[in-house]
Amino acid sequence: MFCPECKSEFENGIIHCHDCGVSLVESLPELAGFKWKVVKQYSGYIPAEMAKEVLEGNSIPAFIKGDFISTAYGVRTWDIAGGKAVLFVPKEDLEKAKTIIDEMTVDEP
Ligand SMILES: [Zn+2]
Repeated sequence: MFCPECKSEFENGIIHCHDCGVSLVESLPELAGFKWKVVKQYSGYIPAEMAKEVLEGNSIPAFIKGDFISTAYGVRTWDIAGGKAVLFVPKEDLEKAKTIIDEMTVDEP
């Protein structure tokens, strides 16, 4: 299930996005049109979201898939046990996205 506002993916059974307060949808048409590739895996949601914002600022669509049980309850910390966030970008933007992310100075714990 996906939030149409923030594009986060949630576990089945969750029906609305805690952050945006909107009902989740089964698929996002704007996400379905791309072939998504993993650009980077993060240890938490926050650095992944920062990278996503930078990519979107560079006109690269991105979405994050991860341990969204935690985000569903409004908890976003650096060290959710076992929490991971994987950042995806369209295949055709992968190299550009990697370059941008490499230039970012995100210090992960
Ligand atoms: Zn949302």
